[in-house]
Amino acid sequence: SLTFDRVSRMFGQSEVLSDVSLTVPARSLVALLGASGSGKSTLLRIASGLDAPSSGSVLVDGQDASAVPAENRGIAVVFQKPLLFPHLTVVDNVAFPARMAGVTRREARSQALEFLDLVQLGGFARRMPGQLSGGQEQRVSLARALAAQPRILLLDEPFSSLDSRLTDDMYELVGKIRAELEPTIVLVTHDRREASVLADTIAVLDEGTILQHGPVPELHYQPATRAVNRILGGLN
Ligand code: ATP
Ligand code: MG
Repeated sequence: SLTFDRVSRMFGQSEVLSDVSLTVPARSLVALLGASGSGKSTLLRIASGLDAPSSGSVLVDGQDASAVPAENRGIAVVFQKPLLFPHLTVVDNVAFPARMAGVTRREARSQALEFLDLVQLGGFARRMPGQLSGGQEQRVSLARALAAQPRILLLDEPFSSLDSRLTDDMYELVGKIRAELEPTIVLVTHDRREASVLADTIAVLDEGTILQHGPVPELHYQPATRAVNRILGGLN
């Protein structure tokens, strides 16, 4: 499980996250919805250890994450803006986590190719990142995250640059990943349909505060406040 316990984050005078408490049960998928600037990416950065809370804590399986170095938390992230190593081929980007874990180059590459196939980019293994479209970069980044075989997968709008056919394929892939690797997943999205299709629970973030967190139908039929209704507006 992944727990945010009263997490706040100040940037100068502005409080970007205010007392966020949220538990994502093991193996479940929570969709984090909220307007631009509401603090979604900041929350993921804190979970991954790239940033630290000003106060409060993050717990992974009940253990305070600050006691564990970021690389040992079992967390992989797909960033909103994919960050691939520009000087490594696509396959070596995906092989990177396994290489870091001491797997041989040959073995790491062969695993990486399997993950590239999963995201339908098997034919792109030898390209350099600079030769990819935005959507392809996102999928390489997803393959690399999966290759790390994380217990917790943090996805920051990973499908925002994909067309509808690919999006549906990636939704199917998420189902497959959940069945096979059983990670705990936080999916940041602006897309309410995506949230409804993929998530077990939805958490609504507004100006750094969680307004409501609950099962998808509850958010639809019993929005706690007008603001939740507005953010989920158009759902049915
Ligand atoms: P979007 O949907 O546009 O990606 P978001 O919900 O992910 O938005 P964040 O990136 O978490 O939003 O940013 C939340 C707020 O924190 C924004 O107002 C942003 O300007 C501010 N912010 C983020 N990082 C920093 C930083 N390093 N220094 C100062 N302010 C920051
Ligand atoms: Mg963001």
